[in-house]
Amino acid sequence: MAKSSHSTVAPSAQPTDSFERLIREFERLPGVGRRSAERMAYSILGQKTEDAMKLAVAIRDVKQNLKPCGICGDLTEKPRCAICDNPERDAGLICVVEWPREVRALEKSKQFNGHFHVLMGRLSPLSGVEPSDLRVAELLGRVKAGSVRELILATSPSVEGDATASFIAAQVKAISNTVTLTRLARGVAEGSDLTFAQSGTLGEALKGRVAVQ
Ligand SMILES: [Zn+2]
Repeated sequence: MAKSSHSTVAPSAQPTDSFERLIREFERLPGVGRRSAERMAYSILGQKTEDAMKLAVAIRDVKQNLKPCGICGDLTEKPRCAICDNPERDAGLICVVEWPREVRALEKSKQFNGHFHVLMGRLSPLSGVEPSDLRVAELLGRVKAGSVRELILATSPSVEGDATASFIAAQVKAISNTVTLTRLARGVAEGSDLTFAQSGTLGEALKGRVAVQ
């Protein structure tokens, strides 16, 4: 085999034992400690090869096949996601969120029939996240196209989420005086992540949304 930067020999800090490697991979997942990782690894070991491989293939597929939608930025296996492609949905109403997981959470609430725009994060000067790192230009492009009636700035209820919403509001106002800007109702989606809110709570937050001044 030709020399490659991707050596097949595990570095000394890595366990060479396959079973131990699997445990360590599970341990890297959020909320999984050593004991849970061991239980999962033993479970995989006990499965038929074809069943265990389904996990490996699912991980490979999700990394290879999911790409940002050309319009909203949500993850999809097609050039455009099912929401952007659905003529039954209200294209004049766009809910702006930080991450694809928030699209899932709001879809689960079944209270929203508009479109989405995924920013892929929020402004964070301390972490070096600037406006150019987010999909703000793409959002302004959608506003300029003219069919947007209302933007719901559903960034996280946090200092950084608020700053992101304020920044976007100012940018939108600079190019349009017809688009209504709103925020989700306060106090219901407590915490820093919409995905932790109950579906019903998110639905209420959507219904009770307030205009951004
Ligand atoms: Zn889309």
